[in-house]
Amino acid sequence: MEDPRAALGEAFAAVADTLRHHRALGLTEVARNRPEPPDASVALAAQERALQGCTLCKLCQSRKTVVFGSGNPKAKLVVIGEGPGEEEDKQGKPFVGRAGQLLTKMLAAVKFDRDRDCYICNVVKCHPERNRNPEPDEVAACNPFLLAQLDALQPAVILALGNFAAQTLLGTRDGITKLRGRAYLYRDIVLVPTFHPAFLLRNPGDQYKRMAWDDLKLARREWERLTTGQI
Ligand code: URA
Repeated sequence: MEDPRAALGEAFAAVADTLRHHRALGLTEVARNRPEPPDASVALAAQERALQGCTLCKLCQSRKTVVFGSGNPKAKLVVIGEGPGEEEDKQGKPFVGRAGQLLTKMLAAVKFDRDRDCYICNVVKCHPERNRNPEPDEVAACNPFLLAQLDALQPAVILALGNFAAQTLLGTRDGITKLRGRAYLYRDIVLVPTFHPAFLLRNPGDQYKRMAWDDLKLARREWERLTTGQI
């Protein structure tokens, strides 16, 4: 068997050779930090470019813009809605209408800044006319894009807004009233379902507001638990 001391000596000699070679090339420092993880913004920008002009489902016939998503690509909280409304279709950004304004306030109530702390997107990226529910073939066509987005973002927590997002992600037909109030594991991400802000606008009673408040606090607690020391 090879003498371990001799082997170690050879290994050190090889490292010294490499360092001498680096110095000869003009390098004066050795990096001690691990390289940064790949930048999600680059992957998201490529995905968004690839989706422009998409014709994979019939929503393309009436939409004005593909509403891909917005926010901080480094955010550990991803908020997922149903599909762009009329205003979102015009502006090309998710949750910029009345429901979006309420969403911004809901997030702020638990100290999330929507641009700094969140990335916001939808199950389908194109506006269904008259705000009808997206149909199963439309969800199926768009699903790979949502999955690719989540792969790039690698969130710790998803806040799923309303029946449609919660049912689609959790693969269930149970309604939001039954689903909300607890956290689920979706792939390796903690998913917290809550009421869609458009529903809260249509049902302004304290009853739903209180439940949404509880859900938001749960999302915040999970986010803190999972991100402490990471960001
Ligand atoms: N409702 C949604 O579900 N998504 C939006 O982007 C806007 C309204």
